[in-house]
Amino acid sequence: MIVVMRSGCSKADVQNVVKLIQELGLKDHVIEGTDRMVVAAIGDKRHLDMGAIENAPMVDRMVPILAPYKVASREVSPEPSVIPLGQGATVGGKKIAVIAGPCSVESEKQVIEVAQKVKAAGADALRGGAFKPRTNPYDFQGLGEEGLKLLAKARDETGLAVVTELMSIDQVDMVAQYADVLQIGTRNMHNFNLLMAAGKTDRTVLLKRGWSATLSEFLLAAEYIINEGNKNVILCERGIRTHESYVRNTLPLAIIPAIKRESHLPIVIDPSQGTGHSYMVPAMSRAAIAAGADGLIIEVHPDPQHALTDGGQSITPEQFSDLMDSLRQIAPAVDRSV
Ligand code: PEP
Ligand code: MN
Repeated sequence: MIVVMRSGCSKADVQNVVKLIQELGLKDHVIEGTDRMVVAAIGDKRHLDMGAIENAPMVDRMVPILAPYKVASREVSPEPSVIPLGQGATVGGKKIAVIAGPCSVESEKQVIEVAQKVKAAGADALRGGAFKPRTNPYDFQGLGEEGLKLLAKARDETGLAVVTELMSIDQVDMVAQYADVLQIGTRNMHNFNLLMAAGKTDRTVLLKRGWSATLSEFLLAAEYIINEGNKNVILCERGIRTHESYVRNTLPLAIIPAIKRESHLPIVIDPSQGTGHSYMVPAMSRAAIAAGADGLIIEVHPDPQHALTDGGQSITPEQFSDLMDSLRQIAPAVDRSV
């Protein structure tokens, strides 16, 4: 942390800041510039609240030097992490991981049909919500445990790993019993108790970015999981809230190189929630892979027109298969495979 003093500050003001820094157990280093005095606080202060120093007389501002996250950062683990998806599939290596399936599990016929078709097209894992976080309480809320059983059945029939969302701590044990990967949705990224509960399991966690969270908050949420002992975290960008209305969410693909620079954790892109429109999904999937994403999570429904949730953004199995063919051409250009 650098403490920038206001111009005209006295020696006593600087000494006061030096004393406050020393009281926190850090070393100080005073730098006398031509116009300004600055005091560097040396040592890892990430667990300390230095904000109070801003209240000292003649302090202009505090400039952080280190990022607040640790265990999710590249500083701590310089090599990219390869995270298990389950059933032998991984994410974060050379091979791009593709997770596909319906927004919600609706029936046995629907989920088995879509699992078989996405598997045939080359998907690595099956997605599908059994517990759905719906904005409107009168909308379809998911099949609950019955939906989890159908996902497990689809895994038995296809060998695909199962990715499904859990919404509360009391669902952790039940969902972990059926799923390979626990999805924590955008609305729960700040639910620190849920993050810690998922961190106590041995299941990989797919953590979606909160729709108004910064990159830093996103990585700090991942740290809540990792700090409980679960290193297997996959980051997922699913779009953020902006003023735009031609999309459901704005999908910021620039987060891919930013995450690659800041973190060793893999990043997958959700172009379905990220756009809200099926016609945009193939283009944004291709763009994500070209930009260096480690994987995709895509909503695929055998009959989008009759989907109980998110039909407008769901692509058909045939469109998914065509998309996979185009990804097979793009991936080698960025030294990846699908
Ligand atoms: C979903 O994947 O269907 C979903 C509800 O995602 P999000 O949490 O990103 O809205
Ligand atoms: Mn959805």
